[in-house]
Amino acid sequence: AKLHMIEKKKLYYNSIEGKSKYNSKKILDNLNAEIAKGRFLVYVQPKITVAESGLYGAEALIRYNSPDYGVIPPVKFIPTLEKEGLIRHIDFFVLEEVCKLIAKWIAEKRTLVPVSVNFSRTTLLESRIADSIEEIVDRYGIPHEYILIEITESAGYIEKDTFISIGKILTARGFSLSLDDFCSEYSCVSLLGALKFREVKFDRSMISQLGGGEKTADTVCETMVGLCSKLGYPVVAEGVETEEQLEILKKFKCDAVQGFFFDRPMPADEFEKKYIYSQS
Ligand code: C2E
Ligand code: MG
Ligand code: MG
Ligand code: MG
Repeated sequence: AKLHMIEKKKLYYNSIEGKSKYNSKKILDNLNAEIAKGRFLVYVQPKITVAESGLYGAEALIRYNSPDYGVIPPVKFIPTLEKEGLIRHIDFFVLEEVCKLIAKWIAEKRTLVPVSVNFSRTTLLESRIADSIEEIVDRYGIPHEYILIEITESAGYIEKDTFISIGKILTARGFSLSLDDFCSEYSCVSLLGALKFREVKFDRSMISQLGGGEKTADTVCETMVGLCSKLGYPVVAEGVETEEQLEILKKFKCDAVQGFFFDRPMPADEFEKKYIYSQS
């Protein structure tokens, strides 16, 4: 418990340090310039149904295309942006790109699936966050149910009551919530009963332990899938890399999987060609 308190404090300090205006302003100017140059890319990874291996949904994931180093994953730049209080610019950029994609699919009469956008806890804590999200989604005429807002479970651990009230506002406006990284380091199982989720995403750290001879990992996973299904929440397993993991998840009656076993995150146009069919 003591360790948790220290970690909790650390997370809090991380989010408020680096508020030195000069530094943040410089990074923000760079950030906006890079966005304008098209150097931030939205990649998309499919979520696949376990029963039929069909398309269940998709998740949008940011990438930075560096002229010097090529395509850079978010782990390399998101912590800095969070520290500087600038991650909102990425979150809203991704939301808008996702809206453009879905608007295109609607215009072309393609089969739609809901698409997830990841929101940092600091973005979600902004005042009028629901208005900001709704303004963008409505500008593109997207029915709200096609936008899934992924909230990492650890966010609920820190400011639980605030998260519950924000989650309730978002669902009241017809947006769907996806509980991300479920059962990773900061767990908050009570969130399950406090909000209505469209899906619960099991963290890769849990999935990677499946079938390794460690019977307890399998038992925890199976029990958690059971808990979610009792609550009426579909389960999406993250980071499925092997057929063995898929078979175990099938046995546990997990609904969908997202992982390299089926496909990696890919540029949005590639995803569209491969997965989003025209209705005919
Ligand atoms: P996440 O939301 O949990 O996203 C899932 C991550 O798991 C992605 O990493 C994805 O590429 C990776 N993944 C999927 N299947 C597999 C697999 O089979 N094996 C392995 N090893 N990895 C797999 P990615 O794209 O590097 O993103 C990392 C994290 O960065 C995300 O975790 C999310 O927390 C954050 N992130 C990404 N895009 C955004 C964004 O637009 N805004 C914010 N705030 N955070 C973002
Ligand atoms: Mg996510
Ligand atoms: Mg995450
Ligand atoms: Mg996750």
